[in-house]
Amino acid sequence: MAGQPIKQLIIVGGGSAGWMSACYLDRVFNHPKRTFNITLVESADVGTIGVGEATVHSLRFFLASIGVAEAEVIKKTNATLKHGISFRNWVHGKGEKSDQYFHAFEQPKYNDGVSVIAHWANVKSQNGNCGKFDRSVSPQTQIALDNRSPRSEKHKEYTGFFPYGYHVDALLLGRYLRDVATERGVKRIEGHVAEVVLNDRGEISKLSLTSGDAIAGDFFIDCTGFASLLMEKMGNTDFIDYSESLLCDRAVACQIKHDSKSSSAIRPYTTATAQGAGWIWDIDLVNRSGKGYVYSSDFCSADQAHATLADYVNQSPEELTVKHLKMRVGRRKFPWHKNCVSVGLSSGFIEPLESTGLYFIDMALRFLGEYIPGSSTPDVVVDKYNDAIGQLFDQTRDFIVLHYILTRREDTAFWKAYKHHVKPSDALAANMELWRQKVPTPADFAGQITLFSSANYAYILYGMEFEQQASLNTGLYVSAGRSKTFLKRLNSEIKCAINTFPLHCDYLRKSGSRRS
Ligand code: FAD
Repeated sequence: MAGQPIKQLIIVGGGSAGWMSACYLDRVFNHPKRTFNITLVESADVGTIGVGEATVHSLRFFLASIGVAEAEVIKKTNATLKHGISFRNWVHGKGEKSDQYFHAFEQPKYNDGVSVIAHWANVKSQNGNCGKFDRSVSPQTQIALDNRSPRSEKHKEYTGFFPYGYHVDALLLGRYLRDVATERGVKRIEGHVAEVVLNDRGEISKLSLTSGDAIAGDFFIDCTGFASLLMEKMGNTDFIDYSESLLCDRAVACQIKHDSKSSSAIRPYTTATAQGAGWIWDIDLVNRSGKGYVYSSDFCSADQAHATLADYVNQSPEELTVKHLKMRVGRRKFPWHKNCVSVGLSSGFIEPLESTGLYFIDMALRFLGEYIPGSSTPDVVVDKYNDAIGQLFDQTRDFIVLHYILTRREDTAFWKAYKHHVKPSDALAANMELWRQKVPTPADFAGQITLFSSANYAYILYGMEFEQQASLNTGLYVSAGRSKTFLKRLNSEIKCAINTFPLHCDYLRKSGSRRS
């Protein structure tokens, strides 16, 4: 029995997770008739993480579901559009121009009943003359690297020529969502939770603030970031640590002004450049760039990381203002425990290489919406929710691990550790064995909850020069000539079409978010 409907829903934490939760739960379940009250408590003493500037493309659907206008979000958060991620220096690490690949959001299509990925791999295995994977299978890579926009101002909101995500100012996004939620009736309390009071069933009954006030509720969302205050106080401390396979546990970040008048200053993609002990993100907003070095503290000190970042932005460490962050990498075993669900960093974290932080929040809320709690929720519902979130995290960990373990780099102890010591999970190892024989296809993930599909895996595998069997099964039936003819045609179509896509800077100007 699900019990009675919730009357008082309390969210603790006012970072992206808190305000995304407030907007989503209010819009989806309290609209147009208000059936439960939502209160969000945020502390003025503890800041938000304040980074997290790139998103995956599905954030569009989240924003659409909470009923906000895309043009407004873009304007209020200084956002730019994102086609995908350009990876540099991940394979050989010698700074060569050829050591680059692009992970586009678009899923390569089928032609003549055969996937474009298979056509490409077919040519590669039969005569090797296939061109680079990223540029051969989808137009999106070339459109992105030519600084073209994935949408025009004529598209309906949240749609475009290609799937696209955003680069946003994380602090502005939080503020914007706060304004949306409070205007719609979510109550905001500024207060610091000092004590979590449990009833005799171990559920939260109320929160005590340092001000002396108490806040009672029947269901709670823990959005307190890495502290995960509510869960820890409930004694729900089981944590699945990913640090053996994801070595990066620190970041140092900075913000740099850019020449926003230059058409190439605002790139419609994220850049991830591998370094000696991790990688640097590079993200352009309308008014500035955000950059950060994600690194492993086992292989690099905070000072060294600061110096590496300063060098990357051509400044001296002394003149560069940075923010240092510690990252707890892994996931909470039980993100839903009794009458509390952890959302955001409190439920887990995977390094931001594929910009998955806000995505996990989005998915947690969607699942919560489907498994919507009452005053008491049967174990079978809670267990399934926890299992689904766990799968999502584990799959994402595997996908990130793949970016590292295929490296040929041995120039530093960090890369040697990834190349020789970090082992893929059993599931990833089995898939890699499979992909030596055949190209990745959706059936490889049959019945699993995944953000990253077989096509996403293909971008990383082939970008990282993964070696397959000399002859693939497709080649038994499809001639290299047929595949080659198709790839050639696709390539010339891309070349002819490229100038028809608007420049990213022009799109931003026309949509009113960038001054000319
Ligand atoms: P926080 O932002 O830490 O918010 C915690 C909130 O809890 C704050 O409001 C605080 O005041 C409140 N709080 C804490 N204690 C108390 C208390 N006792 N009483 C009351 N309130 C309290 N994600 C992406 O999608 N893309 C990216 O590119 C990306 N890059 C990242 C880079 C780094 C280095 C890191 C560390 C994260 C990145 N993320 C990224 C993740 C993203 O930043 C987070 O998932 C997202 O911001 C959600 O954070 P949060 O709201 O869970 O936590």
